[in-house]
Amino acid sequence: MGLPPVRRDPGLDVVREKIANGQRLTLAEGDLLFTTPDIWTVIELADQVRRRLHGNAAYYNVNRHLNYSNVCALSCKFCEFYRKAGEDGAYTRDMDYVRQEARKAVEAGATEVHSVGGLHPTLPFSYYTDLISTIRDEATRLGSDLHVKAFTAVEIVHLARIAKVYKGASAPGEEGRQARRGAIRHVLSALKAAGLGSLPGGGAEVFDDRVHDEAYKGKIRSDVWLDVHRVAHELDLNTNATMLYGHIETRHDRLVHMDMLRRAQDEALARLGYAGVDGEGTGDWALGTGEEAEGHLGYVASHLARVPAITLTRPGTPLPEHVAFTNAEARMPNAGPSPQSQVPSASGPRGYYQTIIPLPFFPDGCDLEHLPGPSGLENYRTIAVARLMLDNFPHVKAFWIMQTLPMTQVMLQSGADDVDGTVVWYDITKLNHAGQDGGEVKTHQEVTPATLQRLIRDAGFEPIERDTLYRRVVREGNKWRVAAAVASSNRR
Ligand code: SF4
Repeated sequence: MGLPPVRRDPGLDVVREKIANGQRLTLAEGDLLFTTPDIWTVIELADQVRRRLHGNAAYYNVNRHLNYSNVCALSCKFCEFYRKAGEDGAYTRDMDYVRQEARKAVEAGATEVHSVGGLHPTLPFSYYTDLISTIRDEATRLGSDLHVKAFTAVEIVHLARIAKVYKGASAPGEEGRQARRGAIRHVLSALKAAGLGSLPGGGAEVFDDRVHDEAYKGKIRSDVWLDVHRVAHELDLNTNATMLYGHIETRHDRLVHMDMLRRAQDEALARLGYAGVDGEGTGDWALGTGEEAEGHLGYVASHLARVPAITLTRPGTPLPEHVAFTNAEARMPNAGPSPQSQVPSASGPRGYYQTIIPLPFFPDGCDLEHLPGPSGLENYRTIAVARLMLDNFPHVKAFWIMQTLPMTQVMLQSGADDVDGTVVWYDITKLNHAGQDGGEVKTHQEVTPATLQRLIRDAGFEPIERDTLYRRVVREGNKWRVAAAVASSNRR
């Protein structure tokens, strides 16, 4: 008796054609990608796009995570990280600790410190500027240009409240929005002056009001999250975006989340000088015109729908300037006109979203512990769908800490091109990485660059060390530099 035939879904043919042309997929096509039994074609298409953008390259970085405090005013149901002030296990790091961490990062050859924490109810605003400047000053003293990527959008809004500049930001309509953006600009400008280099993508969760109200009610909603990132981009700060999935959201909620992100990226890329495609991205195909478009999502959509779709997956389209160091070489032979001729020349703000990071929900130890969490196949499928839907995000990250190292290898063949870094300490989610920590659940979750390189090579890709801004890193031991001229010299 032979094996049953591999199930192919002819319904995906239209999607295949659109992918070949780099056209934007609709939410209905996203629904199909999530529900078709033909997961192999979904993964194959995602791999096609990933190779078109990055060829055989897969990126990692040498970094160190620093969680400055786990004390938080909120109590999100999916969170096992937070503690209340005075509770067992609560901690807040002082500047001596922060300086030591910066020194350890430099000594280990890290190019990045990634720092996030809870919404501490009493720390002054100066703590956060000191945090950034302490890391940067210590690194500079030791001869390193260590990049500081810090604070999720919800932390930025918390800092605006602490700095007492958030007044009027909750007012309805345009007045409130302008007040909010002004407050965010105030905070981000101060942090940037202290040495902040970029924002991570955390706190986005899933942009849906029902899910928000059930699982993380105290957190900022989608429009505020998007505003923080928009202002960061206007200040030339690059950012990332996460999507926490596999809890109480639906797959369609994930697609709406992705659609809102790609619309926000359309705006960022338009500011960079990219031109959109008339007739795509301006219609009602994304959020609908019925009930779905009303209420909060409709409000957000109405502010993100004015720019035509700008995809980076069209053959021949260059990635934003400091990202494109290997893609030009890697493009398919029939890639069309030279990317050089299409590199946008923007004199305005330079910030944009670099990476989408789908994060699977882990139920252990939180208020949603009764939920099963996503399956392995769901994780592969979600990474692949993210690559296909987020046509204007240069990178898709399989964050090995949450996806696990073995799963990450397969994800590199399912649309992901980045695995994150050496991490060292990670408090947010404590996983049992057998083989990394002897099978025990710990917050010490370090892998060496050699391990990441081997993981990438074993998966069939060429490991490329990147800095936070996806520039190639050249190193001799723990000394490193960014390969300055590579971005433009690779453009043909
Ligand atoms: S997810 Fe963030 S904001 Fe929510 S409880 Fe945890 S630390 Fe606090």
